[in-house]
Amino acid sequence: MNIPDYPHDRTPGFNAASLERKAEWRTDAAARAALLDEAVVVPVCRYRMPIAGDSLQTLPAHSFDARLDDAIWLGLWNQRSVYTLEVSDAEASGWPDLHFSDLRGAAMRLQADDAAVMAYARAMIYWAKRHRYCGRCGQATRPTHAGHVLRCDACDLEHYPRSDPSMLVQVSDADERCLLGRQPGWPPGMWSVLAGFVEPGESIEDCVIREVWEEARVRVTGMRYFASQPWPFPASVLVGYHAVAEADTPQVEQDELEAADWFSREQIAEGLRNKTLFTPPPFTLSFRLIESWYDHGAPAPLASLLQRR
Ligand SMILES: [Zn+2]
Repeated sequence: MNIPDYPHDRTPGFNAASLERKAEWRTDAAARAALLDEAVVVPVCRYRMPIAGDSLQTLPAHSFDARLDDAIWLGLWNQRSVYTLEVSDAEASGWPDLHFSDLRGAAMRLQADDAAVMAYARAMIYWAKRHRYCGRCGQATRPTHAGHVLRCDACDLEHYPRSDPSMLVQVSDADERCLLGRQPGWPPGMWSVLAGFVEPGESIEDCVIREVWEEARVRVTGMRYFASQPWPFPASVLVGYHAVAEADTPQVEQDELEAADWFSREQIAEGLRNKTLFTPPPFTLSFRLIESWYDHGAPAPLASLLQRR
């Protein structure tokens, strides 16, 4: 297999936050309290994030008073303690300088570090909102460990934050063609790598083989791990692979894809130039997978073919 190494200079978005999670401080209230004066809060309103231009906006923690008890402590960032808290529409309207935006829509223009902190905050808020009651006995849970554990006192069960794994796979054949698919509802011309949810009791590698077969009737013969990406829409971690496969003719028989086909580098370059084909944006793991395959055997990097739209 002729597969490039992970591009540490081109990681997907939401990765590599400089924020220190400092898990040991989740049970150290005194350590957190010592930094309270300078602490900040990332308010989250209906999963929308406070964004100005390319930056995350925060509020001083002291303006929240007792409500800080409900906040989730994220960690230390630029020497400051950072919390996140869900706020109501009414509260949000009380801060006219804050503009709440959809993180996914804004991600393309965000500074990488700010995007990573927001992905963490959004994922934690989503998890906490969906575990307010115990899944075993139905009683209310209460937060401990600075919001990182939701505990059921009725049955002693502790609920922990979770990420659901999904796989993304860039498949090539012996002729150096790349298998791309289209989901129904995507904008015309958009193609991407194949993807699927890892099922319980299944390895990610088995998921790669199963999904490529189910979605396109193409037989994977080998694979190598590439990179991963937190994807808090709402609660995934995407695990990316390069794979090689038999040159089977793609067949779409399920609802998941409306089309799947092999593309040469020349076809992708021509489609991008003519604007008849486009890929997910560069902050996505999907793009990074296509790029790392493409750049390995093309005269010019894929990124140089992207036009501002
Ligand atoms: Zn319980």
